[in-house]
Amino acid sequence: MAIDGTPLDGLTNWAGNHAYAAARLREPASIGQLQEIVRGSRSLRVLGSRHSFNDIVDTTGDLVSLHRMPRRFELDRTARTVTVDGGVRYGELCGPLDAAGFALHNLASLPHISVAGACATATHGSGDGSGNLATAVTALEVVTGNGEVVALSRDRDGEAFAGAVVALGALGAVTALTLRVEPTFRMRQDIYEDLPLARVADHFDEITASADSVSLFTEWRGPLFEQVWLKRRVPAGDRFEPPAELFGATRATVPIHPIRRLPADACTEQLGVPGPWHERLPHFRMDHTPSSGAELQSEYLVPRHRAVETLLALDAVRDRFAPLVQVSEVRTIAADDLWLSTAYGRPSVALHFTWQPDWEAVRRVLPTIEAALAPFEPRPHWAKLFTLPPEAVRSAYERLPQFLELADRHDPERRFRNAFLDRWLGGERTGSAEE
Ligand SMILES: Cc1cc2nc3c(=O)[nH]c(=O)nc-3n(C[C@H](O)[C@H](O)[C@H](O)COP(=O)(O)OP(=O)(O)OC[C@H]3O[C@@H](n4cnc5c(N)ncnc54)[C@H](O)[C@@H]3O)c2cc1C
Repeated sequence: MAIDGTPLDGLTNWAGNHAYAAARLREPASIGQLQEIVRGSRSLRVLGSRHSFNDIVDTTGDLVSLHRMPRRFELDRTARTVTVDGGVRYGELCGPLDAAGFALHNLASLPHISVAGACATATHGSGDGSGNLATAVTALEVVTGNGEVVALSRDRDGEAFAGAVVALGALGAVTALTLRVEPTFRMRQDIYEDLPLARVADHFDEITASADSVSLFTEWRGPLFEQVWLKRRVPAGDRFEPPAELFGATRATVPIHPIRRLPADACTEQLGVPGPWHERLPHFRMDHTPSSGAELQSEYLVPRHRAVETLLALDAVRDRFAPLVQVSEVRTIAADDLWLSTAYGRPSVALHFTWQPDWEAVRRVLPTIEAALAPFEPRPHWAKLFTLPPEAVRSAYERLPQFLELADRHDPERRFRNAFLDRWLGGERTGSAEE
């Protein structure tokens, strides 16, 4: 029976580069069953939709999937919030939310990921005025390490709540999230090709402010961004006509994939055709494989005001890593107050790398990138691949000591600790429940 656990049988993450070491997969169908699992496990982690590229979710104990738990979709039109369960994916939530007349403020590049898993790792989209996806969370329900159901909200729990949202799964199993919503809106996306790095260096702020969500793509083969994706909200009666040029880049006349050699069928509609927010904000469609499918990813967030220096520093060493790059994406994220958020306390720029699926080779070039980024206090994406020393990661988060206390309060036996958290967060007391 699923609650007793099934052998994992070679289950891997989405990218296939990490086979879970966990002994069993457990699939509770109710809060009661989940509480029973937590109380009976020495070590466990909650599995979302498996899109992380490292061992963040893994454990030597039990992996728990919430996908059999009852679905929740509780819209509060007055408060402008929706409460959803801990297993739902954005791709399942957004259609019904839009049909009810509401929208989320932003989305990541793909709708396939779970809401709880994305918020747990500070997953983000792009937009100067847009916080990461976790910034929409106004309340959480968590089955903690004691097996208790704890409700936390921004209104009631203030400080502690800011620690609990981007929690890397360390506080327990998030069984419900309440998200801020806004009236639904339509968007269009227009793509420009071949924007020289020199123009980006001179006009970075103007370029990223030229739409609600802007992504710059480069393959690092030269000082050039081969693509710039502009996603704009389209108010009723909007007569916006996109210019033919953007700082020297020209508007695309056919749909294109961020990895230029791939067909654009997997991409959401382009060429300025207006459509619902959830079919424009992600780059990829729910019913297609996102990105290339055969890849690894890394990403680092740096303070926004250092963006141009950072790009020039990477450009200076691009020959050393470009052969492994499928594509690289630059996005902007508003600052937030969530303790372990990669955008905590600073408006940020994210430098993303989609690599060839060759971990040995990627592992060899990451130190080059990390050395180039070192002067800019990089924070690696929690769910992607990095080789920074643990001290560099820990020192990037000034609220880490408070986070460790918060996690120990909710999970005193450290059942939800794993090797990833021990390595990157430290705070060893008696160690995690994992051996
Ligand atoms: C093709 C691709 C594109 C991507 N694009 C983006 C992007 O545009 N922007 C970006 O920032 N990132 C991106 N990512 C990274 C992705 O958003 C993160 O890996 C995210 O954490 C995935 O969520 P998941 O549900 O798959 O989580 P998993 O990988 O399953 O788990 C991640 C973490 O969340 C925790 N978790 C999951 N569910 C719960 C729960 N209910 N309660 C407690 N903890 C839980 C897990 O324990 C783990 O610590 C991309 C990844 C892929 C594969």
